[in-house]
Amino acid sequence: MAKAPPKHPGSPSSPVTPVGRKIKESTRIVLAVAAGGRCEFRGCNQFLFEHPLTLKAGNYSENAHIVAFSQEGPRGESSARPRDINALSNLMLLCKTDHTHIDKNPSDFPVDALKSYKAEHENRIRHVTGLAPNMRTTFVQLKAKIGGDAVGIPIHNVTEAVAPRYPSDTTGYVINLTDLEHDDDAFVASAEKTIATKVRRLYEGGSDVQETRHISLFALAPIHLLVYLGTRLSNKMTVDFFQLHRDGENPWAWKKTAGPAVKYTSRVLQRGTNNLQAALVLSLSGAIDLSQLPAQVTRQHTVYEITLARRTPSTDFLRRRKDLQAFRRAYRDTLAKIRKNHPRVREIELFPAVPAPAAIVCGYDLLPKIDPLLRVYDNDRNRGGFTLRTTINPNDKQYD
Ligand SMILES: [Zn+2]
Repeated sequence: MAKAPPKHPGSPSSPVTPVGRKIKESTRIVLAVAAGGRCEFRGCNQFLFEHPLTLKAGNYSENAHIVAFSQEGPRGESSARPRDINALSNLMLLCKTDHTHIDKNPSDFPVDALKSYKAEHENRIRHVTGLAPNMRTTFVQLKAKIGGDAVGIPIHNVTEAVAPRYPSDTTGYVINLTDLEHDDDAFVASAEKTIATKVRRLYEGGSDVQETRHISLFALAPIHLLVYLGTRLSNKMTVDFFQLHRDGENPWAWKKTAGPAVKYTSRVLQRGTNNLQAALVLSLSGAIDLSQLPAQVTRQHTVYEITLARRTPSTDFLRRRKDLQAFRRAYRDTLAKIRKNHPRVREIELFPAVPAPAAIVCGYDLLPKIDPLLRVYDNDRNRGGFTLRTTINPNDKQYD
């Protein structure tokens, strides 16, 4: 059956598209999305879906025709008059001010100029919103022998622990101290040299870190080497610290358990007679008693302590990332207190009984030119208790 002949344009049976002022809802939506909800006039970029002053949400955008709806309107006589005057390509998302401005001054804003404003803006929005956050991380491992063993980390443990990030490769960047046998002063010197060299290379141009801008650090080593490692790491790139727990399917993953946050408390264990002498005891994974401190700490020293509030120090207290964050605050606050109480102190004797990540941040959070030197002691039964192992200089933070 033949179709009835068209009566007049716009009637339901007419094949001719009706020319109305009404812009289709779908076109309005696509335009707002393409514009990122912002005014497309070159240089304006105002966000149009909230009031500029009160910030109340609402639609303050206008749909401006590049070639006017009517031939008598702005740019209406253009030879580039589109077939569909309400097509997306002929519309710009504008603020009220700029809409008025271009329509009152059509000769200043010809069709080609407006088309280039529109294209420029929409290309930029598409590019900027297309940048996904970089979710890759550089997996760094510090390996040393502890009690004769060196612990390897299965890659699936790493992948799970760093999620939602992804390790950039499966082997990671390994700082290997397992070849160093003897635990004497020569060992400390060569271990520190290896750490310094390897960490410097870690940040070099063209390295993986230069691309990921993020480090996931898995370190097991004697405490003083961990503090030293902390001072070598740059504060310019984010470092996520991980620790080996004694339980859980993945012993390297931070726990997601609920429950009250770990609270730290700081106090003075002994007031010294000499304002230039200060010591700091970190009783976290174990309690350190004043009587355990070596002869280097005398009645002259003021001895500060950071310990756990309302719980006994234990090896498994540090289970969640935020509990490490809270320790960092307590540590920095205590260093600030020592600097304030002892403005001319040049070094602090440090006695750490802490989990690995806490030891690393003891070096990492030092402030060059502000914090004093740290003389780090390790508690070693074979040596009859606490012995001085290394002196940390905050000014060695050369990568900042
Ligand atoms: Zn505008």
